[in-house]
Amino acid sequence: MRFPSFPTIVRTFYLFGNATTRRLPTTSLRQPTLRSIPTIPFLGSLFGTSTRNNMSYPVQKTDDEWQAVLSPEQFRVLRKQGTEAPYAGEYDKHMPSSGTYNCAGCDAPLYTAQQKFKSGCGWPAFFDTVPGAVVRHTDNSFGMERTEIVCSNCGGHLGHIFKGEGYPTPTDERHCVNSISLKFKNDGESKV
Ligand SMILES: [Zn+2]
Repeated sequence: MRFPSFPTIVRTFYLFGNATTRRLPTTSLRQPTLRSIPTIPFLGSLFGTSTRNNMSYPVQKTDDEWQAVLSPEQFRVLRKQGTEAPYAGEYDKHMPSSGTYNCAGCDAPLYTAQQKFKSGCGWPAFFDTVPGAVVRHTDNSFGMERTEIVCSNCGGHLGHIFKGEGYPTPTDERHCVNSISLKFKNDGESKV
């Protein structure tokens, strides 16, 4: 493992994020009297992102409409910036010679099989995208600055980009993508 501490850090954030989300019932946020409590803005900045909410995307759906077409886990990751458990996703070790990985929300082609590489990080890794398919946002959650990646067609959360790690790829970028945000299609199977 090139970066032995990285999966541990991410797993910690994953567990922390889930635990904290469960402790924050959405009903409490709807009570005006709680809005002045300092912990609410703190948690908002912890889980919020700075730029993504200003974007508009061609595919627009309400949360109710997304929940009608996505599984609960897909909705949590794609629409609520969740993270799936490492080494558990359907496409982590999936290495086809051709085909595309489409958005699980809107079916837009995001990555080709040729752009995937083995990173060992526990999530599917890509070094490049289908041109224009992915938008980058600054993500300030968890008290650090990262680059979030979302589908440019529907705004669905895909994962994050990490740069300069030294992988022998043409871009030295790792698009760390949740399997559940993707749907693999063989060549000719994609609608778009
Ligand atoms: Zn999409």
